[in-house]
Amino acid sequence: MKTVVFSESPVFLRMAAAVAQSFGGEVIGISDNENVKFVNKLYIIDKIDEDGIVDLISSLSPDVILTGNVRRDRAIAGRVAGRLKLPIATDVVSLKVEDKKVTLNRVAYSGMGLVTLESELPIVITIANTQLQPKELQPSVEKVQLKEGRVKIVGRKSTSSGVNLATADIVVGVGRGIGSKENVKYAEELAKALGGAVGGSRPVAAELNWVSEDRQIGLSGLRIRPKLYIALGISGQPQHIAGIRDSKIIVAVNIDKNAPILENADYLVVGNAIDFCKAMLSKLGKK
Ligand SMILES: Cc1cc2nc3c(=O)[nH]c(=O)nc-3n(C[C@H](O)[C@H](O)[C@H](O)COP(=O)(O)OP(=O)(O)OC[C@H]3O[C@@H](n4cnc5c(N)ncnc54)[C@H](O)[C@@H]3O)c2cc1C
Repeated sequence: MKTVVFSESPVFLRMAAAVAQSFGGEVIGISDNENVKFVNKLYIIDKIDEDGIVDLISSLSPDVILTGNVRRDRAIAGRVAGRLKLPIATDVVSLKVEDKKVTLNRVAYSGMGLVTLESELPIVITIANTQLQPKELQPSVEKVQLKEGRVKIVGRKSTSSGVNLATADIVVGVGRGIGSKENVKYAEELAKALGGAVGGSRPVAAELNWVSEDRQIGLSGLRIRPKLYIALGISGQPQHIAGIRDSKIIVAVNIDKNAPILENADYLVVGNAIDFCKAMLSKLGKK
């Protein structure tokens, strides 16, 4: 059994490795980070180049290819499946491999349900979430120079926030109702006062860029499981709920007392998100 794991996100790479370890057999990692410790063999690549990574994965003839759920991981997964003519399962939350066959659960119906699928190996899988943790290994390391791809990176700018939403105990989520990029500072102040981190709905993270893209919570972003989730100006569409349903307590702040998030929130504060932040900061003695 040979499993190749790749993700450009350290969080998803860890998840993919944890799942791969659960199969037994060899776990091969591909990363541009030398500090990946939870694989048996690590290919350290000199650049994140889609063409090159697709070539490298394809050349290893794995039984399972596991990637994460960020945009480039999904693109690479699709291209590897196309190149090797393999089946692909996306948004997978649990799976087991037995006798060259895999049974997996994937998110369906906009996060409101799960579908169980069976497939022969080899297969390409994108992981949406897992509770498994990888154990640390001492990988043998090989540096690989990927050949120049057809698409070249001509500029780089970090949009990563450095916050780990996946493990935060308190998350303040901002939605379109926060009003503007400037107003996100109130959510940030509140998160800081509570010792938490800020995330956002898809429009806010992926379209308006009010928070960095890696902070998107939901079906096509991160699944989080904090002890407390405060949703500021988030309507509560199923695609967002898919990312927060494992939160212990959900507090929603919305001007609309009938906002759909009501169905999933433990508490609904009817009011303006900024006023709420200011009042909370004042209560916490921060303003
Ligand atoms: C395939 C697919 C995948 C998707 N994946 C995701 C995903 O991963 N994550 C995600 O979040 N979405 C995702 N979406 C988008 C999702 O369907 C919704 O469009 C999105 O979640 C809505 O974001 P929002 O709640 O910020 O904005 P809106 O739906 O516009 O809601 C804004 C809310 O703010 C309230 N409001 C307005 N002003 C204030 C104020 N001053 N104070 C307090 N409240 C106020 C309004 O009453 C409203 O309820 C996906 C959609 C598709 C089709």
